[in-house]
This record gives sequence, C-alpha cells and structure tokens, in this order.
Amino acid sequence: MEKVEQEMKETPEPAEVSRRRFLGAGSVAAIVGAAELTAMASGQQAADTRKAEHDRSESNPGPENQGLAALSADSELPPATDHGDTPTFWTSFALARRRIEEGGWARQTNVKDLPIAKEIAAVNMRLTSGGVRELHWHAAAEWSLMLNGSARLTAIDTEGNAYVNDVGKGDLWYFPAGVPHSIQGLGPDGCEFLLVFDDGTFSEFDTTLVSDWTARTPREVLAKNWGVPVSALAGMPTEELYIFQAELPGSLEEDRRAARGRGKLTEVAFDFKASTMPATLHTPSGEVRVIDSRNFPVSTNIAAALVRVRPGGMRELHWHPNADEWQYYIEGQGRMTLFANGGKARTMTFHLGDVGYVPRTFGHYIENTGTTDLVFLEMFKANRYVDLSLSQWMRRTPPKLVKEHLKISEETLQAIPEANERVVPGK
Ligand code: MN
Ligand code: MN
Repeated sequence: MEKVEQEMKETPEPAEVSRRRFLGAGSVAAIVGAAELTAMASGQQAADTRKAEHDRSESNPGPENQGLAALSADSELPPATDHGDTPTFWTSFALARRRIEEGGWARQTNVKDLPIAKEIAAVNMRLTSGGVRELHWHAAAEWSLMLNGSARLTAIDTEGNAYVNDVGKGDLWYFPAGVPHSIQGLGPDGCEFLLVFDDGTFSEFDTTLVSDWTARTPREVLAKNWGVPVSALAGMPTEELYIFQAELPGSLEEDRRAARGRGKLTEVAFDFKASTMPATLHTPSGEVRVIDSRNFPVSTNIAAALVRVRPGGMRELHWHPNADEWQYYIEGQGRMTLFANGGKARTMTFHLGDVGYVPRTFGHYIENTGTTDLVFLEMFKANRYVDLSLSQWMRRTPPKLVKEHLKISEETLQAIPEANERVVPGK
C-alpha cells in the first residue's frame, strides 16, 4: 500500500487511473486478515476518501447474479491494469451437467463450453464402491488424477498383454489413444477422479464402448467372430452401459492371474504413484511436482505440474513455449492475469473445481488470494513440461540492456531472483 502511494507521488498519472488504483487496493483489503488491515490502515483512509467520490462510477444497481459476482471478484472490480477484449479463460465443473447413472456420474468441460480450450478437454467422474466405467477406448490420450478414494484399473497394451492395478488418492494414470481400459471404484466409498484428454473437442459421451459396439453388430456376426452359437449371446445388452453398478472385484492377485490367462502381464507402467513423489522443486512459498515422459514414460503426449502455493505466495510471471496450459483448481483460491499482447490483459478469479486456460506463449501468474494453500494442476498437450520465467529472463540478459528497458536501478535488478523459482513469496 505504501509502495503504491509512493509510486503515485513519483509518477503523475491521469486522475482516473489514480482513483482506480486506490479502489483496487481497497478491495484487496476487504479480503485480507486483520494484521494486514492494520498495516494498510493509513493507505485505507486515503482509499476511503477517494472511494466516496468514485462510488458513482462503480455503482452497479441493475439485476445481478450476486452469487456469481461474489465468486468473480476480479471481473466485478478488475485491477486497473486490465484492458481490452480478452477471451474468457475460466469455467467450472460446477456449471457442467452431471450425467448420473446407477454406479456413479460424470461431467465434462471441453471446447464447446470454453472456446479458448482447443488443446485439452476434461472430465470429472465419481464411481461408487463397485461402480464401473465400462470397458472402452477413445481417440484421445487419457491422463488422470485420483481425487478421492481408490479404483481398480484394467487395460491391455499394444502387444495384447494384460494390465490390472489399483490406484489411490493422489495417484495418476495414462492410457494412450486407442488403448482399451476400464475403471472400477473400490471400497469403502468408491472414488472420484479428474480425467484430462489431449484434444479440446473430446467428448466423454462419445467413446468406443464394448457394449455399444457389440449391440450395433449383427448377432450372427458376433457369434461367428467368437465361434459360439447365437443363442449363447441372448443375454447381451442392447444399449450402452457406460457407467453401471457391479460387485466389488476380488483381490488384485486373483484379477491379475485371471486376466493374464496363458499370456503375460504388461511391462508398461500405465499408473504413477504421484502420492509418494518428492517435490521437484521446493521453496518456502510452495512446491511443484513435474510429471511428464521423463519420469512417467508412458505419458508421451501429456505433461503435468502439480503446484502448491502457500498463503501470500504466487506462481511467478512465466510462460510456456511448447503448449497451451489447462488448469484445474483443487484447493484454496487464487487469481490469474492473462496477458494477451497488444495491450490486452484480463484477471479472473479461481476457486476449487474451477478450470483455467492459457494459450501457448501467453504470459501469466497465479496468486494465492486466500488464507489457505492454493493447489492447482497445470496440464499440457506435450511430451515435456517447459516453462520460462520473466525473472530469469531479466537476469540472463545484459543488465545495461534490461535497465534501459525497465528504468529500474542496478540494486532493484540485482534483487530479482536469478533462478526459475516458480513459486515466490509475498512481499
Ligand atoms: Mn477412458
Ligand atoms: Mn503456467
């Protein structure tokens, strides 16, 4: 707050911008704790004075969805630096229709509801204890994070070898395009997970299901295919199952032995125990876990970073040269400003269950605006996770050249972190 005032004394600005700055700072005060409020007190008085004269312009007397406005604080009262026409890069699973079946439910977000999200679509799914997402495959690769509970996965690899394994909270899996698989919730309360697909047009409700395919194949053809009488197929479903309730499976060993038969179990690790993975990078302000083809070899087309930001901290200003970024917010709350070039920038607010999107190469930061940890996923349609840091760029460029651009002192330049720290503290 003091810094803002000082800047304003040094740099005369148009009156409108000055007032907006005071109001922006005032709105921050409304969501921080008592200690911060005390520290801001002198600045707050000035803000209150200015607010009185500015209320008329900021008033919003018309019909308003108050609940949504409260959740979209950075749209309701944007930072004064936001400018221009920047596409929406927020959506939430809470807006998606839940397709509820006996055995669980699914909901999705793709390019139809978030037009900017061309490279990635996602599904949030819950399966009851014993509930099955039926045997299927799809044209997109599938990456998943288990959010709650545990599940049994089955698949076959491209050599036809069997895969059966159990995954728990915090673990991941990846099935390449066309690899058939199933998911079944285990006890005591099934599971919930996030599925990420490397295609923005992917639809969970348009995958290749074994029940749908067999129902759309002449019975005599199926009978010939399997060398059995048509009468043996009389009980087969005539509609897709998709999600259905089943009995809990037996032990993992039993299932593996039965699935292997006279063949082999696969040597491909389709799952990854991210729940026990040490942080790739750790700072006092948070930690980052990078999972891509370097440590999870099967995941050739999807890269991920799981980011934890402590209260007051921030995922620093950065960009990704190799792919769009799709985000999923798991804990806490934050805000992200997307810099869309040509003077355009927009800030949006994120809560748990929300989805964000950043086009390839666009600069952005994510700030923890809450009082608890902010946890979110950064997902990319890429073989490897790559990010570039504004701070590191400034420190790996001849200092004279940087100072001529930014008009900052040598002392200030030297204070900028040299490393790509990814998660930086609040000041
Ligand atoms: Mn799938
Ligand atoms: Mn990013």
